[in-house]
Amino acid sequence: MNEMLTRNIPPITAETAEYWASCARHELQIQRCLECGTCQFFPRIMCTACSGKSLRWVRASGRGQVKSFTIVRRAVSEAYAAEVPYVVALVELEEGPTMMSNVVVGNVDEIRIGMPLEVVFDDWPEGVSIPKFKPRMV
Ligand SMILES: [Zn+2]
Repeated sequence: MNEMLTRNIPPITAETAEYWASCARHELQIQRCLECGTCQFFPRIMCTACSGKSLRWVRASGRGQVKSFTIVRRAVSEAYAAEVPYVVALVELEEGPTMMSNVVVGNVDEIRIGMPLEVVFDDWPEGVSIPKFKPRMV
């Protein structure tokens, strides 16, 4: 297979397996520390705030806002050629953590810092569901 035509599939590890399983159900889950209450993303084996190891998966609201973004106008490979232009953003989730994702907008020039967002899931034929975001009406 021509690798230039193959999208990058996220690796599923012991730390991320539950996360990707929840994405398959179209639920965005993040980790919450049972010792200090901090929510974190991406998945880790310990809390980034207190180093506690008692972490529980909780369903995030799926709401957030644009913290920063860039617009990709030149595809990184042929596999993404049909998708340009697209937005890559740092999304600040309502629960606190920041995650990198795509924001799906009709016109990429509509994207703004602080834009309210909600999660949507893109089911890839490769068998993985990718969380992305779209503008949210407030
Ligand atoms: Zn903690």
